[in-house]
Amino acid sequence: MGTIKDYFGSQVFDDRVMKATLSDQVYASLKKTIDEGTELDIGVAHAVAIAMKDWAVSKGATHFTHWFQPLTGITAEKHDSFITPSPDGGVIMEFSGKELIKGEPDASSFPSGGLRATFEARGYTAWDPTSYAFIKGRTLCIPTAFCSYGGHALDKKTPLLRSMEALNKQALRILRLFGNDTVKRVTSSVGPEQEYFLITKEMYEQRPDLRFTGRTLFGAKPPKGQEMDDHYFGVIKPRVAAYMEELNDELWKLGILAKTEHNEVAPAQHELAPIHTTTNIATDHNQLTMEIMQKVAAKHGLVCLLHEKPFAGVNGSGKHNNWSIATDSGQNLLSPGATPYENAQFLLFLCAVIKAVDDYQDLLRISVATAGNDHRLGANEAPPAVVSIFLGDELNAVLEAIENNTPYEGTEKTQMKLGADVLPKFNRDTTDRNRTSPFAFTGNKFEFRMLGSSNSIACANIMLNTAVAESLRIYADRLECAEDFETALHEMIRKTIKDHKRIIFNGNGYDESWIKEATERRGLLNYRTTADAVPHILDKKNVDMLTSHGVFTEAEIRSRYEITLENYCKTIVIEANTMVDMAKTQIVPAVSAYALELARTSAAKKALDSTLACGYETDLVRQLSILTDRIYAGAAAVENSVLSVTAAEDIGTEAALIRDKVLAGMSELRVACDEAETLTAKSYWPYPTYADLLFSVQ
Ligand code: ADP
Ligand code: MG
Repeated sequence: MGTIKDYFGSQVFDDRVMKATLSDQVYASLKKTIDEGTELDIGVAHAVAIAMKDWAVSKGATHFTHWFQPLTGITAEKHDSFITPSPDGGVIMEFSGKELIKGEPDASSFPSGGLRATFEARGYTAWDPTSYAFIKGRTLCIPTAFCSYGGHALDKKTPLLRSMEALNKQALRILRLFGNDTVKRVTSSVGPEQEYFLITKEMYEQRPDLRFTGRTLFGAKPPKGQEMDDHYFGVIKPRVAAYMEELNDELWKLGILAKTEHNEVAPAQHELAPIHTTTNIATDHNQLTMEIMQKVAAKHGLVCLLHEKPFAGVNGSGKHNNWSIATDSGQNLLSPGATPYENAQFLLFLCAVIKAVDDYQDLLRISVATAGNDHRLGANEAPPAVVSIFLGDELNAVLEAIENNTPYEGTEKTQMKLGADVLPKFNRDTTDRNRTSPFAFTGNKFEFRMLGSSNSIACANIMLNTAVAESLRIYADRLECAEDFETALHEMIRKTIKDHKRIIFNGNGYDESWIKEATERRGLLNYRTTADAVPHILDKKNVDMLTSHGVFTEAEIRSRYEITLENYCKTIVIEANTMVDMAKTQIVPAVSAYALELARTSAAKKALDSTLACGYETDLVRQLSILTDRIYAGAAAVENSVLSVTAAEDIGTEAALIRDKVLAGMSELRVACDEAETLTAKSYWPYPTYADLLFSVQ
């Protein structure tokens, strides 16, 4: 296959291919659209379409698709072939500028959360030229946005692009105030670290819960878990190594910068991190990565589990969203500068993030809210559902010094006075990383760690970009009309620290006492479940902020509210139904069969010698019999709770009922079944156990 350099990006219509296949004029015009967001001329689009088609056909492609990200959270594609009949009975391969720019898939089967009822049933897809087209299998995939005919975003890409624009606009205002007139564009960059589990296909097939819901709904604790800490960064097993090798090759061909791979904390858990890139491209790439992870696993007789909590009591999987903002000249705005003046600009951007995270804790929590991720947030390995920021000791000391007007005892002593020229000079953060913080500053970027492993990273970045744009807007409004820029700047930084320091927490986020302090003393929000969090997207302050930056319309916000809660309810109802089915048709019969064998053994023994005690058999039959009754009753209770939910009048009530009744019933049923598992002979138990699953791949 040659060296990586030879095949990296070989399936991508990237800048190299564009340069080689487009005329200078077409290339320059397309480049301007990509870099500066200028509108694309149809003539240019047509020339690009022809070059793209010829390139794709030369690589064996037969079809093209507008590849988009509907609100289901996964990607969608409808394939059309390039063929057009020619008069001589053959075909020619055709693809026009119009087909490249716009597609018209039927939108009616995608969730629209009410947008479809009010507006048009049809939707259209529109090319996002900033994300390169690529070939998957034999299909040319063109990354697109997906909207209703009324112009309402039915996807995740459209609001993400809008949020990037909002951030760009406000950040540029701030940079101008600092005298920077040359920067043309500010973009946010993301490097998402992706966690996942690998198990064998054979084991997976035997578990209806994994097949239908992506997680185990039953399973007693294995004798060995992660207590030995022997998996994290451990030697990668040959079968896993072969998988990772092929995965990397496939990702590299698609131009995805897969960089780091290692074993994670839990047995069978791994991580893949790409090099960070522009947010919308990182989002497309992460969706592709998740898809290819599953495809490659299948080729190796494995299944890649992307669920946040496939195994109770074992570390779940998250996604760390490393986020920063940079100018088109490559300056990272979250990197402390070399001079005090640069540091003043850095501190202002830092404060904008602190203020954004405190003001919009709820939106950040909502952006990662799914039924799956609820199991993780608040469990012992994930950040808690409470949002807080870790800054590290040095930065913390700097902020305290500014707040209190005291000398900063850092690398050099500086008396705090008003004015940017005396803001402290300090170096890049060198303190230890805090692994427990939901939102950690790591030197030149923030790491938002609340995302679930299966989440699209779009939502989190939409909220993050827009909330930071809002802080910057408030700052720019104030500073643009300040009489003395430096005084106003210093005051604003101080005010932000004073008003928002409650969100800064440098201690252990897993500590019970922190949750108490956060919620009782600091008044931070703690929305434990999706049902608790999501209704707050409709709070006036959130709707006002998101609409004022043009990121969502009010109708679009309402649609996200509906779809997120619908998804939560549907997911849990499917889990409940799967549990009931497994309990009634497999677990109870297995336990009863084992009890019968015990009873028979006891009877046979007594027939041989009536004085034999048979204490073990009798006692176990009794215990198993009590358990089967409990399981039977528990399954009936879950069934009834699911039925009662269907009577709910609106989706908010339904979600609350699911949270309070269905989930509670499910955990009771699980306890009884897991206990039965520990008492039933392995040969009778219908499923591979946790130990089987977690140690299945060698
Ligand atoms: P760790 O496991 O210590 O968090 P990793 O190396 O696994 O670190 O992942 C760090 C991620 O952060 C990578 O995806 C990397 O590309 C990304 N990253 C580094 N610098 C930036 C930056 N300026 N902006 C966004 N992401 C970044
Ligand atoms: Mg990390």
